[in-house]
Amino acid sequence: MNHDKQKPVATIAQREGLILAPYAMHSLDSAGRKHREAEHPYRGPFQRDRDRILHCAAFRRLAGKMQVFTGDRGDYHRTRLTHTMEVASIARTMGRALRLNEDLIEALALLHDIGHPPFGHAGEDALDECLSNAGGFSHNRHALVIVEALEIRYAEFPGLNLTHEVLACQSWRAEKKDSKKVPMLEAQVVDAADSIAYMAHDTDDALKLGLITIDELAEAPLIGDILAQAKEMSPPLLRMSVVHTLIDQQVGDLLHTTATRLDAKAPTSSEEACRWGFLLLPSDEMTARTTELRAFLYQRVYRHPDLVKVRSIAVKQLHKMFEELIHHGEHLPEASRARLEIVGVERAVGDYLAGMTDRFCHEQYERLAK
Ligand code: MG
Repeated sequence: MNHDKQKPVATIAQREGLILAPYAMHSLDSAGRKHREAEHPYRGPFQRDRDRILHCAAFRRLAGKMQVFTGDRGDYHRTRLTHTMEVASIARTMGRALRLNEDLIEALALLHDIGHPPFGHAGEDALDECLSNAGGFSHNRHALVIVEALEIRYAEFPGLNLTHEVLACQSWRAEKKDSKKVPMLEAQVVDAADSIAYMAHDTDDALKLGLITIDELAEAPLIGDILAQAKEMSPPLLRMSVVHTLIDQQVGDLLHTTATRLDAKAPTSSEEACRWGFLLLPSDEMTARTTELRAFLYQRVYRHPDLVKVRSIAVKQLHKMFEELIHHGEHLPEASRARLEIVGVERAVGDYLAGMTDRFCHEQYERLAK
């Protein structure tokens, strides 16, 4: 064993200096944390962020939150947790190929959906309506509340005290619809991996659960081509082939177009890449094809009558529970009651509801509001 007593940051900086590109976010350039902490003997700052997110309660609860399909449809389909793990895997693959900071990428990927309430985007819309007089609700903003206030794991500070870079990237996610800011490349990789992952796994789940057929799916051009090349396969293998080819083609396309442009522009730091507004973009052809596939999924899967029915029940339950709890704060757990004074009753109730898994939400509805 090597007992060399090098300072850990020096060791991490050496390692990153060898393997990361100049335009990657290097740990040595981190702006640090709001509450100062001593360096860890063998983990870099973004590794520590990743571990803090992985070990927090809100992350584990993703196992009980729906991605697209609820638990009454069996155990095959993705949950919010397995979606997150697929995003992290695809994002790390892209990050390694582009020589970006994989520790930062993994932290951002594990964080990206941590603020999702029960019942996916329908739950988010319901809470947004409930909180319309208190600033609304978005899962991306709620992720910041979780890691800055709600998770209590340390005596010295509330939240997880994540690095400035991880918080800044999550803030960009929360604001991106209204912002022209370009985030660091690691955040862009996670964003791209998110849509690559959900298009592939929602296609797989929708086929497996019988919401769409392979023949219907062939209407989407990206998939039609994949099916044409693999038509000799049995249906289950064909479905698998669609999933991994969809991921592989999109990742390959993004890496190819990005690597060429990065070589040409050659930003010399992460900060410079942001300042220049460098965007990770797929080719125009791939963009056109994925736009059509996304439209297909919206029309045939996400708006499927079976899913619309489940979502409308969930939305009604959240509305009724919100009304019940804002008038009967005694039903809130101690941690939420402690926040009543700080953030007001509506936000405290909204944050409590947002933390629920789908199952717990149903149980509490039966107990409190039915
Ligand atoms: Mg996601």
